[in-house]
Amino acid sequence: MDYRKIFNTAPDVEARAPGRVNLLGEHTDYNDGFVLPTAIPQHTTVAIGFSPDDHHHFYSAELEEQVDLDPAGANPEGFASYVNGCIRILETAGHKIPPLNIFVTSSVPIGSGLSSSAALEVATLRGLRSLLQLPLDDVEIAQFGQQAEIQYAGVSCGILDQMASSLADTDHMLFLDTRTLDRQILSFPTGAEIVVIDSGVARSLATSGYNQRRAECEAAAEQLSVKALRDITDPQQAEQLPEPLRQRARHVITENNRVLKALEGITPEAFGELMNASHASLRDDYEVSVPALDALVDILQTTPDVFGARLTGAGFGGACVALVTKGKGDAIAHSTLERYNHAGHNGRLLVS
Ligand code: ADP
Ligand code: MG
Repeated sequence: MDYRKIFNTAPDVEARAPGRVNLLGEHTDYNDGFVLPTAIPQHTTVAIGFSPDDHHHFYSAELEEQVDLDPAGANPEGFASYVNGCIRILETAGHKIPPLNIFVTSSVPIGSGLSSSAALEVATLRGLRSLLQLPLDDVEIAQFGQQAEIQYAGVSCGILDQMASSLADTDHMLFLDTRTLDRQILSFPTGAEIVVIDSGVARSLATSGYNQRRAECEAAAEQLSVKALRDITDPQQAEQLPEPLRQRARHVITENNRVLKALEGITPEAFGELMNASHASLRDDYEVSVPALDALVDILQTTPDVFGARLTGAGFGGACVALVTKGKGDAIAHSTLERYNHAGHNGRLLVS
């Protein structure tokens, strides 16, 4: 399926944007902290042309769904809310957008924590930038994408996903200070590649658990008299807090320190140790792991040629990321899934 088949003409522009996986810096973004994502090979492609009538027409190849939209009408639901959100945000910023045909197709797994939503927003905004010659830089694209997701898709997300999709590539990691948006593009650890495996456990408690952790972090910051936990660098300072705030704050403080450590151009072995420590902290202090994620991480951490592994994303289910010797990813993923699924789980490979 492509643009021509749906709209009976050729598109005027095509643009793409990748999904992402976060290597270090989990649950730090809403604490004004540091994150370290990389782009994954899978990406979303949009093809855009001018609509022959006064409506927008959006088509998703993955959903096999077309949405026809009055540009002056109400915001739609579902995937069209992300695409329309990007258009509306640009209009709010003063850009004139004519009625459009937009065809979407993607190899990013949808709803698996690899940020198909940011890939959709960034690809759409890149396509609109090139079609309409809009003066937008890559950071503005990320910020407009985030605003589209918050205001039109109704997801209160940070800036991590959109910045990663807009600025990272698969050979580099993006260090991002989520408070200042200061950033560095860093080489990937030498001789290493990533594997991402879905645990097969749905993130059913993710929203309530996430909101509770956010509230606990805010309470901890208030009791420590700082604007956000990012302002604390010494984990000793968390010791004065009552539980569970003490352990929540300790995770955020040590996790931020791990991200900063990773900027020092360390070996893949040392990077892997930071990932292992991150998982232990997410499991024991932040309490967002589940037994299946622990089992999957345990298999990965005890497999030869694996430098380190951790849950990635908010937790309560979802995926694990491992840093492994370059060229060994496929074999490691295969053997890991065999062992993990043999134990009764429903894991599947997302990236290798
Ligand atoms: P994630 O970003 O982790 O994949 P989200 O729940 O944030 O998960 O975003 C998934 C949503 O993004 C989908 O439900 C859909 O609305 C939209 N989306 C992403 N990619 C596509 C696509 N290729 N076609 C249609 N909708 C998509
Ligand atoms: Mg998303």
